[in-house]
Amino acid sequence: MTKNLSCFDTTFGCPTQDSRLPSFIMSRTHVTEFAKPKKPATLLFLPIVLSTLMAIGVILIQDIARADYFGGRYADNDQHRYASIESKDSHHNKLNPFVTDSMHSDYELDTDNDINTINDGRQSAVPGTHVDVYWYAADESHFSRPSVLGDATCKKTMSNNKCDQFRIRFNEDKLISNTAGQIGHTVCHEIGHTLGSDDGLTDDEGCWPQSKYSLGTDLIDHEINHLKDRY
Ligand SMILES: [Zn+2]
Repeated sequence: MTKNLSCFDTTFGCPTQDSRLPSFIMSRTHVTEFAKPKKPATLLFLPIVLSTLMAIGVILIQDIARADYFGGRYADNDQHRYASIESKDSHHNKLNPFVTDSMHSDYELDTDNDINTINDGRQSAVPGTHVDVYWYAADESHFSRPSVLGDATCKKTMSNNKCDQFRIRFNEDKLISNTAGQIGHTVCHEIGHTLGSDDGLTDDEGCWPQSKYSLGTDLIDHEINHLKDRY
């Protein structure tokens, strides 16, 4: 395994170290300090100070939760239709179970009318824009570097930073015969781009590595909550 395994995208750039400090931790520290007043008069103001600081802390936590994660183009709606246009049977048959599994186990979030994933099957050409994501495998010469395992690109842009149709390509020379873990991770990661997730803004967990080179194959709850919030 090499470091650049975690850089999957040419379109959206490589993961970067996110050096932002969790500022709500500093607020919590201040609360602890204010909890030990030396003068009795301060006690009168303590509840107000504490509640104010706690409110600020909550706001900061919410800001952080809402500010990160997204940076790419959002899908045009919460009905996420996908199709394979891979022409080679062996490549389609290898990758299709991973794509279908990730769409349904990671991104099918419609229990609260959130994202609904719909399989439009295998098609022989680029489908109309009622299909939101079409995918296929391409040889390594199509990628910016041979080591890139996959990429996701908006092919039909819309206003309001939305995308009508994404293309996902998988590196057939480097991914098809790779481990199930690496395929599952890459598939989960690239699908996330088709919903607006962005490499430098996510949480370094699940299928979204930044500095730790996480190779998780599934979304974690934090990431799912961001998607439910957005869609
Ligand atoms: Zn990426």
